[in-house]
Amino acid sequence: MISEKRVVVAGGLGFIGSHLVSRLLRQDNDVVVIDNGITSGGRTLDRHSRLEIADADVTMPLWIEGHVDYVVNLASPASPEDYTALPLETLRAGAIGTEETLKLAARHEAGYLLASTSEVYGDPLVTPQNEGYWGNVDPIGPRSMYDEAKRFAEAMTVAYSRSKGVRVSIARIFNTYGPGMRSTDGRVVPTFLSQATRGLPLTIHGDGSHTRCYTYVTDTVEGLLRVLEHGTTGPFNLGATEEVSVLELARLTIDISGSTSSIVHRAGRPGDPRTRKPDIRVAQEELGWNPLISLSEGIKLTLDSGLGIAAVD
Ligand code: NAD
Repeated sequence: MISEKRVVVAGGLGFIGSHLVSRLLRQDNDVVVIDNGITSGGRTLDRHSRLEIADADVTMPLWIEGHVDYVVNLASPASPEDYTALPLETLRAGAIGTEETLKLAARHEAGYLLASTSEVYGDPLVTPQNEGYWGNVDPIGPRSMYDEAKRFAEAMTVAYSRSKGVRVSIARIFNTYGPGMRSTDGRVVPTFLSQATRGLPLTIHGDGSHTRCYTYVTDTVEGLLRVLEHGTTGPFNLGATEEVSVLELARLTIDISGSTSSIVHRAGRPGDPRTRKPDIRVAQEELGWNPLISLSEGIKLTLDSGLGIAAVD
């Protein structure tokens, strides 16, 4: 267990970052958050004697006083709405932001963890996707600013390991949801929950047959900590394996929330992958990690917490 360490969390005001920060603080670590607030939705973290927050952009040179044991890089727009609105910021975060955070880790001889994504697999031609699959990505497609930024970020990360000896790890995170997501963040779980609780129709883009595996945020955070502690490069897929179609997710959300909402279909989104399912054998075997929260349990927990950015833990 990571304890009594000093951990820099870039992107620590974001959805996953804020959960990771509270877990690190609970485990008696000192935490330095670096975040420029671009997609944090104005989230603040409770004051804590072991928490420092720097309002800084990872695409600028970074300087942290004192020793650092680990650098975790989560700083990037992550929802399709955000990265579509912020294509240049997303590419710069993946490219320059990854290099600046790697330089920080190199200077402090700290372990480094890159939060990569299942989007590196693009619209996959094999399912489930294991870490050996190189992906099917359109370099100029509507999601390319995110997919290619993360692919470049992975390449930059292994280059710092090979050429500068930085101890790096890469986690490929699959769709993660849970308390504290912005209801307007555009990702499907908060969108459906927000619509269902207000009695509005749940909007599905396309026929709803495309599938995803949704991972509850505490499982993702546990996986990230295990990758960080393990310290090997990976990459490690982190995702639940319960595959559901978007239509099934909509029905489940209506069912669990007891909503009277209907379901409406809108035009499909260009570039939306048809399927996404992780092969997690590497994480299971090397990290002993398994997602513990089922989709229906996770939807209930998210619903009970109330949506909204303050609702972490
Ligand atoms: P988020 O948008 O809630 O959090 C990202 C945080 O990074 C925000 O607080 C934002 O202000 C900050 N940030 C962005 N650009 C920055 C910059 N240039 N300098 C400093 N801070 C910056 O997103 P999230 O869902 O918490 O995702 C966190 C990370 O995990 C991202 O790197 C994302 O790509 C990755 N990831 C998330 C998911 C998911 O389903 N949530 C899936 C795969 C990968």
